[in-house]
Amino acid sequence: MTPKSKSAAQQRPQPQVIRAVGPLRAWVSRVRDKGETVALVPTMGALHAGHLALVRLARRRADRVIVSIFVNPAQFGPNEDFGSYPRTWDADVLALSQLKVDAIWAPGVATMYPDGFATRIAPGGPALARLEDRFRPHFFGGVCTVVAKLLLQVAPDYATFGEKDYQQLKVVTAMARDLDIPTKIVGLPTIREKDGLAMSSRNAYLSTGERAAAPALYRALTDCAKHLKAGSPLAATLGEAEAQIENAGYAVDYFEARHAETLAPIQSVKDGPVRLLVAAKLGRTRLIDNLQV
Ligand code: AMP
Repeated sequence: MTPKSKSAAQQRPQPQVIRAVGPLRAWVSRVRDKGETVALVPTMGALHAGHLALVRLARRRADRVIVSIFVNPAQFGPNEDFGSYPRTWDADVLALSQLKVDAIWAPGVATMYPDGFATRIAPGGPALARLEDRFRPHFFGGVCTVVAKLLLQVAPDYATFGEKDYQQLKVVTAMARDLDIPTKIVGLPTIREKDGLAMSSRNAYLSTGERAAAPALYRALTDCAKHLKAGSPLAATLGEAEAQIENAGYAVDYFEARHAETLAPIQSVKDGPVRLLVAAKLGRTRLIDNLQV
């Protein structure tokens, strides 16, 4: 076969798939020896356009992009969806090859948490803001433990995280600062479907009817932000937003206005900058979203 007759897929360089820490460090050393910079994009796979936007952001920042795909058992509670979390390996690899990602770090659970693993990061500050942590008390400890490992394994110049998980972005930024991890944490605004629903791997759980109702979450955020900017009182406006979401069929865990940087509670929008944060269940699917006021 002549080179010309090769299909585009055959010609495209595949990302190197790495499954153990030794080969990962060797890959990082080769890149560093050439004087190149590295950006890491941590994911749990089931990639969608939000993840791919994080990859493009990473590509703009650094010479080499490595995407980790690891469904992290440490951040799921006993009654959560670790077992059923969507796993779409072949489609993920194809999407990452199309974006010319250099490497995929895909450790197994026994590689990340070998027998005898006994260390866990206990984040404070934004991890105890009584938002996600109120409903998922194990979550940020699990996230920080795995992200700290990823940042130590890859030692990237940059790591990209979505504002979709706003509290997580604040928690990871604080952890990197507190532990003197020299990686720059870079945030990306939320990527949405055309109807406003924030892209999420968990949207795949929604039935047709639930999917039709789902954009109410973002509509409530945008309406609430508009009313607050126009001077409506905080508590009543948040109450209306909660009712709006419940009328669409959601069961609300929280709908709150917080200081956008510290996540501290606020009494008025004048205490801002203000971020609205919401978590709610549609049937069995728990969705989160947030918006700057
Ligand atoms: P996950 O695979 O859900 O753990 O997410 C991996 C990364 O993608 C995290 O930094 C998320 O915040 C980010 N992410 C997920 N959904 C979106 C989205 N719709 N827009 C931007 N970033 C996102």
